[in-house]
Amino acid sequence: MITSKLLLKSLNNMQKIMAENKEYLTELDAKIGDADHGINMNKGFKAVKAKLEDAAGDSCDKILKTVAMTLISTVGGASGPLYGTAFLKASGVVEGNSISDETLVEAFSAAIGGVQLRGKAVQGEKTMLDALIPAYNTFKEAIDSGISLEEALEKSVEAAAEGVEYTKTIVASKGRASYLGERSLSHQDPGATSSYLLLKTFYETVSED
Ligand code: ADP
Ligand code: MG
Repeated sequence: MITSKLLLKSLNNMQKIMAENKEYLTELDAKIGDADHGINMNKGFKAVKAKLEDAAGDSCDKILKTVAMTLISTVGGASGPLYGTAFLKASGVVEGNSISDETLVEAFSAAIGGVQLRGKAVQGEKTMLDALIPAYNTFKEAIDSGISLEEALEKSVEAAAEGVEYTKTIVASKGRASYLGERSLSHQDPGATSSYLLLKTFYETVSED
């Protein structure tokens, strides 16, 4: 179970990780995009942290909605509306001051649905979905099998990491990287990398709790 307090702690930790990886994510984007992914993510999560400063006591759905609206309104790049829609769709699935493991599975699924609704991409197009979809599939299977949330998240993060590696083996067909065609091959997708980092941070926050 995820309480609203743990959710807030996770989001604050995500801000730290996005700040720490600002240059790394931007370097990845410099290779196949326009060198702003780290800047975008850092800016977005900085704004999220500021907005959530007085969110103690807010419900999980309200917190997720605040994250969504903040990312959509502060991030200029494609990733802002994509992650924003993910958080918005997740906010529509949760309710109250805690999220059960089963509801978390549904929220994760809704979040991916949001990315796909907005970006019209599928798995294998060298986007954040190549980390998110395997992470979700692994997470759902793990929760359905009855293992703990912490273990399920650990497996999910491993699947996301494999997804990031997989992006090096494929050509981009969505987003800016698609302009490069074959030349996008062998480069790691920045959005898949930020998705992995966000999931890893969530896992680490939950396991420290
Ligand atoms: P921009 O491409 O506008 O500069 P960012 O650099 O912040 O925005 O984000 C780039 C990342 O967004 C890509 O690495 C990719 O993972 C993700 N992305 C781009 N287009 C899509 C899409 N249609 N669906 C899913 N993810 C996408
Ligand atoms: Mg970019």
